[in-house]
Amino acid sequence: MAIIRFKALEEISKREYLEHEFPTERISNYFGADVFTLETMRHYLPKEAYDNVCSAIRENKRIDRKVANQVASGMKAWATEKGATHYSHWFQPLNNTTAEKHDSFFEPLWGGGSFETFKGDLLVQQEPDASSFPNGGLRNTFEARGYSAWDPSSPAFIIDQTLCIPSIFVAYTGEALDFKTPLLKSLAAIDKAAVEVCQLFDKDVDKVNVTLGWEQEYFLVDEALYLARPDLTQTGRTLMGHTAAKDQQLEDHYFGTIPKRVSDFMKDFEEQAYRLGIPLKTRHNEAAPTQYECAPMFEEANIAVDHNTLLMTIMRRKAAKHKLKVLFHEKPYMGVNGSGKHCNWSLCTNTGVNLLAPGKTPKNNIQFLTFFVSTIKAAHDYGLLMMASIASESNSHRLGAAEAPPSVMSVFTGSTLSAMLDSIEERVTDKKMSPDEKTEIKLDIGKIPEILLDNTDRNRTSPFAFTGNRFEFRATGSSGNCASPLIVINAAVTEQLCRFKREVDALIEKGVKKDEAILQTIRTYIKESKNIRFEGNGYSKEWIEEATTKRGLETVNSVPDAFKAYLRPKFMKLFTDHGIMSETELHARYEVKNETFVKKIQIESRVLADLAANHIIPTAINYQNILIKNVRGLKEIFPDEYLEMAAEEIKTIKTIAEHVKFIRENSEAMVEARKVGNNMEDIVARAIHYSTEVSPYLHKIRYHIDKLELIVDDNAWPLPKYRELLTIH
Ligand code: ADP
Ligand code: MG
Repeated sequence: MAIIRFKALEEISKREYLEHEFPTERISNYFGADVFTLETMRHYLPKEAYDNVCSAIRENKRIDRKVANQVASGMKAWATEKGATHYSHWFQPLNNTTAEKHDSFFEPLWGGGSFETFKGDLLVQQEPDASSFPNGGLRNTFEARGYSAWDPSSPAFIIDQTLCIPSIFVAYTGEALDFKTPLLKSLAAIDKAAVEVCQLFDKDVDKVNVTLGWEQEYFLVDEALYLARPDLTQTGRTLMGHTAAKDQQLEDHYFGTIPKRVSDFMKDFEEQAYRLGIPLKTRHNEAAPTQYECAPMFEEANIAVDHNTLLMTIMRRKAAKHKLKVLFHEKPYMGVNGSGKHCNWSLCTNTGVNLLAPGKTPKNNIQFLTFFVSTIKAAHDYGLLMMASIASESNSHRLGAAEAPPSVMSVFTGSTLSAMLDSIEERVTDKKMSPDEKTEIKLDIGKIPEILLDNTDRNRTSPFAFTGNRFEFRATGSSGNCASPLIVINAAVTEQLCRFKREVDALIEKGVKKDEAILQTIRTYIKESKNIRFEGNGYSKEWIEEATTKRGLETVNSVPDAFKAYLRPKFMKLFTDHGIMSETELHARYEVKNETFVKKIQIESRVLADLAANHIIPTAINYQNILIKNVRGLKEIFPDEYLEMAAEEIKTIKTIAEHVKFIRENSEAMVEARKVGNNMEDIVARAIHYSTEVSPYLHKIRYHIDKLELIVDDNAWPLPKYRELLTIH
């Protein structure tokens, strides 16, 4: 009997609804209450230390030891007043999680007594063991030790009575072992390049920040059902399960009312998010049943990335209270939409100008065009790398499935902006423009804001879409770290901005007027990046055909194939030229990516084989025996007619035998394929082998299990079914 499944269902049916109390206070009263913000710092730090931290944030300056001691002591005073007992460096290793190692403020004294302490040294640097985190061989070639170092540009916060200090994580030899280190370097690089370009338009600009607004999609599932699905608990996705008779066909989930238990969960995590200064703005249902989304107001990119990873942790923790589990996997269920994490990306100056929003004057609009075409050019030259930055085993189930961007990069600008780019390309020439021509072009460019106002066309099928005042990168997976694509986008745009400045300067040197030099360079970029612009349906087969044959755009065919982009000389140069990652770091990351890919498939394959052997096949055989008994009984009672009477049963007995045979044989073959792969020394060869030789079995075996699910008595089926998993009561 299907004990586990029915126990889970019974538990849910008996579940009493717990009323939750939510604060009736205004959010603004407690927003950021658990964060050591600049505002809070002012109360806890001497002026010198406070000014020092401010300039460290603004100018990426180091904080000296004396000041670090003052900050540590202020932080400790604030945190202990708020009930914190421990502190921890909080960082983002290369496995899409966050890591913490808690130490107590409490210090027992020799001979009795105790006190609370936190020194500058401990604030600035700690030494977690690097060998227990993915390090891509850096452990073998170098020292095992690594250290985490305080990132003053992201504020410390308190969670579960622990003061968390956002940090970078690097090997002892200096190589980055995390997402934050190269992200910070890419932000510094784009700041420098963008400021130089801005200076062509406005001398007051001396700082350019990247802004990021992410949209986090996720699924919720009842905890009892989750625990009864070993595939969900061990791999984060269902490895089997026939589609429910009704899922998203009626499109009745999207923007529908949110069930009370779910909205209580949302309010609960939102409350803590607000206390931690995460500016959440929207929450709604998504396309698939039990799928939801939340999005904050955009923030400076480093902080936005920290907030996203922090929120994922809070959501996981809060879900337990509501007897729910959050699934961040990109594709927990076959046949319904998967989850992504759109990254809305833009640039903002210290003067408060969004460089991707058209302004009021023609000059502002030429500046807008400069950044706009530089970003398009970046996607053109480094699109493949952008796709590689979000490639992962879990995201591969979602991409290209007519619900998420295809595996080829394109940029959507909207037809009117596209026409404007075409017109600039046509009208601007290398020759000196007449005053009339200049006026005409400026008039044209002046119309951009109006164009955008009523340019409401939105293309949901494009991986990189311009949405009025930002670019939206839609290929990012829901479980990934936004820093990964951001590092690539920042690096690629930095490269284009540097080139832009060089080319404009060279033209000016030749005697071309500044305005014309800028327009001519814009035109060059428009021409060079033309074939990445696409306004049509990105999900259509015709597009992939056109992109690859007519336009010569590269697609990625498999995940290990995508990873290879990281080691292409042109792409490596991008990172090394701008000081974002060294060749050693890129090799290490490449290794980690391939290793993680192999491990994920290995685990899935093991779990599937175990479930097939221990749960599915015995259940199918039991049911088959019931049918056999039935046929025998019929034969006893109706010896002359039973063959006709039991024709369907006999057929089913055979069908079950066939499915069972297929599952057994293929499970064995899958194990053999794994063995071959495991003997491969080279991690890249192993990843390719797992991708082409092991992974296909997962689908093949599942197909037959799902067929059995349709045949076998519902009372006997051991695992919760899709129709149960995809409902929250
Ligand atoms: P949609 O689902 O239509 O894409 P949402 O409102 O859910 O729109 O999300 C839009 C996201 O874009 C939000 O996270 C928002 O903060 C972000 N955003 C808006 N303006 C900018 C900007 N200038 N830079 C970065 N992100 C932005
Ligand atoms: Mg979006």
